[in-house]
Amino acid sequence: MKNTPPNVVSVLDDILHTFRQYRQKGIVGYDCSPEAIAMLSNWRKPLDPRRETLETIREDLGDCRRCALCQKRQTIVFGAGNPDARLVFVGEGPGQEEDRQGEPFVGAAGELLTRIIHAIKMTREDVYIANIVKCRPPDNRNPRPDEITTCLPFLQRQLDAIRPEFVVALGKVAAQTLLDTDMAISRLRGRFHALAEIRLLPTYHPAYLLRNPEKKRDVWDDMKMLMKEFGHAP
Ligand code: URA
Repeated sequence: MKNTPPNVVSVLDDILHTFRQYRQKGIVGYDCSPEAIAMLSNWRKPLDPRRETLETIREDLGDCRRCALCQKRQTIVFGAGNPDARLVFVGEGPGQEEDRQGEPFVGAAGELLTRIIHAIKMTREDVYIANIVKCRPPDNRNPRPDEITTCLPFLQRQLDAIRPEFVVALGKVAAQTLLDTDMAISRLRGRFHALAEIRLLPTYHPAYLLRNPEKKRDVWDDMKMLMKEFGHAP
């Protein structure tokens, strides 16, 4: 693979890794028949009365004191948007303005995210927006591993309740956490990854774009790829 582009190498690495995991689980092949594919398609959003709702997850979160981030936060930023969204954006954690208002992505980076959402022919009401951690890390530092581990199950339950087709992971912390990898965001972005039944697309964080506007082109390329799969022609 001497002259193979790095993107292809990492896709092959991912495939190899997945196949090794399947082998460990005793899986020896796939059923790709039209019947199996039709059955899988119909599995999207079955009516399951036992499924949690965003409201019950929010209730369970309560006035969360499960990690140290509760000490300095003003407001828990649970997430906002369409509970039936086909597309969810996941950021890193609330900033100062989000902590004040209790809404995700309402500061400067949020304005840019809103513009990105409009560029892909949607509104904030069409999508759902959440974060890896729900309380603001002091001084806008990255969330720590123990804080992520404590908070992540709530995001996972939110995703289980919403069952989106697509997740856009905004930035390194979201992408690495959701994909459980330490691969650089520059290598993760630009292609879809499988997150159970969800197609996950990592891209650069809007706050990073505000500091590095030359990366906007990459994000636009990612968004065009998303629109194509989503059924919104650019
Ligand atoms: N940055 C994030 O990652 N999330 C927010 O909600 C706001 C800024």
